[in-house]
Amino acid sequence: MTADVIDGKAFAAGLRARIATLAAAFEAQAGRRAGLAVVLVGEDPASQVYVRSKGKSTVEAGMASFEHKLPADTDEATLLALVEQLNADPAVDGILVQLPLPRHLDEQTVIATINPDKDVDGFHVTNAGRLAVGQAGFVPCTPLGCLMLLQDKLGDLAGLDAVVVGRSNIVGKPMAALLLAQSCTVTIAHSKTKDLPDVVRRADIVVAAVGRPEMIKGDWIKPGATVIDVGINRVPAAQEGKTRLVGDVAYEEAKAVAGAITPVPGGVGPMTIAVLLRNTLVAAYRNAGIDLAAGAI
Ligand code: NDP
Repeated sequence: MTADVIDGKAFAAGLRARIATLAAAFEAQAGRRAGLAVVLVGEDPASQVYVRSKGKSTVEAGMASFEHKLPADTDEATLLALVEQLNADPAVDGILVQLPLPRHLDEQTVIATINPDKDVDGFHVTNAGRLAVGQAGFVPCTPLGCLMLLQDKLGDLAGLDAVVVGRSNIVGKPMAALLLAQSCTVTIAHSKTKDLPDVVRRADIVVAAVGRPEMIKGDWIKPGATVIDVGINRVPAAQEGKTRLVGDVAYEEAKAVAGAITPVPGGVGPMTIAVLLRNTLVAAYRNAGIDLAAGAI
């Protein structure tokens, strides 16, 4: 058996097209564009690439992009004042502060200053709490993207055994909460889990969010299971001096056993920005007091 390959790139493109249609409808109704503000402190090369890509995608979806680039030695008061200014700006529906921040800035303090109703990354404790108790809020983009891929592939998830490997606040924990809300039986595994291969073998759904290249082996996978690989790891390539990206799952081995699997790259990765745009549009509709039909995006 060979698994179906879940094409996250194609799914994300479809999602972005739906968002663009709704963004145009929002502009017609609200008389303004939905807006996303992205704040970058410092010159981390990877962060610069992400911020550029987010800005470009925002504009392509027909929304306004506001980029704020601050020097690496920006003090906390200056950054918090900018966040407050964005909180108060009616043209800004979503605020994203690119992480990681330089070491002298406290990420939790900065995130706590973002208005939870503009927190399109879903990192504010208010949004984490809303997710935990089942209230409408913003859910971190990567796990919400994983859920969309799972529902697209499997339909109703109720009753399925799901194992999430990893318990970070941005991926593992919100992923587990989302799967629980879909009535999966959820296990969260982490670095202290005993007999991890046996735990993973029970799963109808495996979500790997560990950050260890190809750690999850093919013989850990229950035949027919659906495997979502969040990991992005850069490893040396066969060609001298080159690198390549691999996930947290040994892809070829797992593909021979699983029912469906996301590749790396081209699986979960493209979903993250698409869901960020989705969250921004949802924020815009809410902030403007205009109803967005349930399930529209
Ligand atoms: P973190 O480093 O914050 O968390 C990793 C988790 O994996 C921790 O909970 C840790 O357990 C667990 N872990 C580490 N080693 C083991 C082990 N040997 N066995 C079982 N569990 C283990 O990572 P993130 O959640 O931020 O990211 C995970 C991966 O996803 C990374 O590769 C990252 O690059 C990728 N990522 C991809 C995104 C995308 O857009 N596709 C977005 C975000 C992340 P413990 O808590 O016990 O230490």
